[in-house]
Amino acid sequence: MKNGVVIVGAGHAGVQAAASLREEGYDGPVVLVGDENELPYHKPPLSKTFIKDAEAKPQPLRGEAFYSGNAIDYRPGVRIDRIDAGARRLDVAGSGTISFDRLVLATGSRPRLLKLDGTELAGVVSLRSLADARLIRELSAESEDVVILGGGFIGLEIAATLRAAGRKVTVVEAVDRLLGRAVAPVIAAHVRQRLEAMGVRIMTGTTVSRLEGDGGRVSAAITSSGERLRAQMVIIGIGVVPNVELAEAAGVTIGNGIRVDQHMQSSIAEILAVGDAASYRHWFTGGDVRLESVQNATDQARLAARTILGHAEPFSAVPWFWSDIGDMKLQMVGLTQGGDSHVVLGEPAENKFSIYHYAGNRLLGIESVNRPADHMLGRRMLGAGFSPAPQTVAAGPDALKAALAAFQEDEPARAAG
Ligand code: FAD
Repeated sequence: MKNGVVIVGAGHAGVQAAASLREEGYDGPVVLVGDENELPYHKPPLSKTFIKDAEAKPQPLRGEAFYSGNAIDYRPGVRIDRIDAGARRLDVAGSGTISFDRLVLATGSRPRLLKLDGTELAGVVSLRSLADARLIRELSAESEDVVILGGGFIGLEIAATLRAAGRKVTVVEAVDRLLGRAVAPVIAAHVRQRLEAMGVRIMTGTTVSRLEGDGGRVSAAITSSGERLRAQMVIIGIGVVPNVELAEAAGVTIGNGIRVDQHMQSSIAEILAVGDAASYRHWFTGGDVRLESVQNATDQARLAARTILGHAEPFSAVPWFWSDIGDMKLQMVGLTQGGDSHVVLGEPAENKFSIYHYAGNRLLGIESVNRPADHMLGRRMLGAGFSPAPQTVAAGPDALKAALAAFQEDEPARAAG
């Protein structure tokens, strides 16, 4: 391939795609283009540690030498604003073009905007990039009161982090519980209780109707019930939207993201898509999903590299995710939507428990709070296609390990028969 592979987006997925191409033996040109002017970095620490520590440095995904050492032509601060799929050419914003034989779109997602009076005021921010995190860190140094709109993972991580740094934090969530779409109600209630014990104020079933400013800087958020919440910083954390516009304008099929098949191949043969921007039919549920996690981004990128090299394996990685909120390490494995029963192991009162979700007799996934061993075993079980009976789960981790070992020992017999 003369022009080689061009990867647009130098986040978790893009960098992994470049690395995997080389690991898999691809020896053509690899160009990695990213519109941020940074060495590609880990995003998860931004909300967990970076914003509270004035000395914290970004954590690079790979050292600088990785790019030159692997002949990866990394071009920071370069934004692509058009794909000419027919000519296999990208237009660089400003000027210039880049030709490709295969294109990997790893354009990620961006914070969902909120239509609200006052969002243009200084001190109103969202967190997606290192630049956002630096701004939040600066604003936080001069903010006593912080209002966070949205009780999802990122909003709650920020709430715990800024509360630990001594800020007065209020979380305003429109629906009547936290972490609405993501975890079981019992986990959401547990997270709420512990955040409140830290001194975070949580208002569910409440929206903010407008933001007020003073001299161009935000000074308060007015709730739907008319309460005036003092705030020198307002963080909007109401979810993300996938960056699909580039692909859409090029004629690639879009669903809830850039639609790809089980090999990460889009509707246009030369173009693949991975990570937060890609939507696909998940092998585990049969439903269309777009997952926002480091695991999904890196596993899809690995597979995309293999697809480019001519392998034809379908995507079959077990989905998992983690979040650190205050003193809680939350870990999720599998996809638990559609569950109709569950088994609890451990004790919420001790801040250590796991919930095993079932649909009928099929284990869909496990959500753990401070029980990393359950999570790791869960990854092994789901990876092996093993669904333990609920009573085996209830009997505890030793029984589960034994049942998994027996299941794996029987594998040859199952394969034969
Ligand atoms: P991104 O990492 O967003 O990278 C996309 C890149 O493409 C960006 O740099 C973007 O600027 C660039 N780009 C977009 N369009 C263009 C263009 N036209 N030209 C050039 N460049 C372009 N996940 C977890 O599993 N666990 C966690 O604890 C966790 N915590 C998180 C905390 C924060 C604060 C954030 C923001 C995310 C967190 N996530 C976490 C989610 C995880 O970071 C994402 O799922 C992951 O980054 C997705 O990788 P990606 O490469 O698809 O997108």
